[in-house]
Amino acid sequence: VTFADLELALPIQRALQDMGYVTPTPIQERAIPYLLEGRDLLGLAQTGTGKTAAFALPILDHISRHPRATTPRCPRALILAPTRELASQINDNIRSYAKHMRLSHAVIFGGVGQGRQVEAMRSGVDILTAAPGRLLDLIGQRYIDLSQLEVLVLDEADRMLDMGFVHDIKRIMALLPPKRQTLLFSATMPNAISDLAQSLLNNPATVTV
Ligand code: AMP
Repeated sequence: VTFADLELALPIQRALQDMGYVTPTPIQERAIPYLLEGRDLLGLAQTGTGKTAAFALPILDHISRHPRATTPRCPRALILAPTRELASQINDNIRSYAKHMRLSHAVIFGGVGQGRQVEAMRSGVDILTAAPGRLLDLIGQRYIDLSQLEVLVLDEADRMLDMGFVHDIKRIMALLPPKRQTLLFSATMPNAISDLAQSLLNNPATVTV
């Protein structure tokens, strides 16, 4: 299987060529077809397996094939990640994969001033990557509106629970439209994660690598 076989939108295929990606990793090969169909997904995968592209490429494909219907540019996809380092890496990957597309992406996390993050939200963000605490802060200040969200990704969900984000995650979930695609990635599957998956995912495909 090559990336061409996955039939991603052409600007994405060009970006992958530019980066020298030829063959999808196992999680990409197995998850991407489900995600392109719009299925929810439970992904059991560690960092280093290529899981970022496994969720990012189908999000980009969806956005490129379904232009936004309305003008307000509130986020269409939200990726929640436990740390600022991981959130930044995800946003950097999205920048590379989206280099031939017209869309906007931003990353928000705590520990730095919020001014630049607020500016980015004001100018419109299609794909938002965020750590939960700062996301809730900015939602509370009404800088972020998640009412139009189409895709939600929880990345490293086990680490988010270990870091005590469970209540933050539940508060964020309560603000999202029920009709959406939801993806949950975790390296481990303790009971707390299978409970979270049960409550958030609708008839998910499961991919373990
Ligand atoms: P991740 O597990 O998402 O952190 O990805 C691990 C590393 O593998 C990152 O540096 C990616 O840029 C790279 N990578 C992901 N998918 C592929 C692929 N199909 N071919 C080559 N490199 C890849």
